[in-house]
Amino acid sequence: MLALRLLNVVAPAYFLCISLVTFVLQLFLFLPSMREDPAAARLFSPALLHGALFLFLSANALGNYVLVIQNSPDDVGACQGTSARRPSCPPPSTHFCRVCARVTLRHDHHCFFTGNCIGSRNMRNFVLFCLYTSLACLYSMVAGVAYISAVLSISFAHPLAFLTLLPTSISQFFSGAVLGSEMFVILMLYLWFAIGLACAGFCCHQLLLILRGQTRHQKTAALPQCFIASYVMHH
Ligand SMILES: [Zn+2]
Repeated sequence: MLALRLLNVVAPAYFLCISLVTFVLQLFLFLPSMREDPAAARLFSPALLHGALFLFLSANALGNYVLVIQNSPDDVGACQGTSARRPSCPPPSTHFCRVCARVTLRHDHHCFFTGNCIGSRNMRNFVLFCLYTSLACLYSMVAGVAYISAVLSISFAHPLAFLTLLPTSISQFFSGAVLGSEMFVILMLYLWFAIGLACAGFCCHQLLLILRGQTRHQKTAALPQCFIASYVMHH
């Protein structure tokens, strides 16, 4: 239980750290590298368009993050303290969250990155948060790949170039051919890729549950019945 409470504090701090690092890299490294010849006067420079797109995605991700925390699911009964005070017979369509120590209506799951329960009131914001976080991470990865490609003169035309980038750059880093800041960006590329894919998968899974009109608890509870039904059909 203590580990879960600790995770509830560490995960939001981790999310905010990654967001801050992404902001700093985008605004002070990637966008300045996109600046073209100042003599060429254009209404919309690529750096301006990239900056506007990144700010749009990250503002939506952070805005929905705040709304998920603000719109907590409705409390059926606050159960402050330990799980020993858990109601013996909660009403239907409710769930007791051990981390928040409360019973909430239409509870789906507890999200450690927001440190909050996800239910009917904040589900919309949670799905949008996953969607925009995924897009912001994948967009940062693309901008980072463009930056690394220009700085280290690497071509990413080959499909396996992204996979072989890490081992080759680690060996080049220890031989002094790759700077510490460039190595940091390369490590961030893999982190953005992983977070982007995870959030996209999570968003799709959540949308599937919404389309079926289910919560995660209902899906889990329905599993044994499915197994029983398939067992009865085959025997
Ligand atoms: Zn909770």
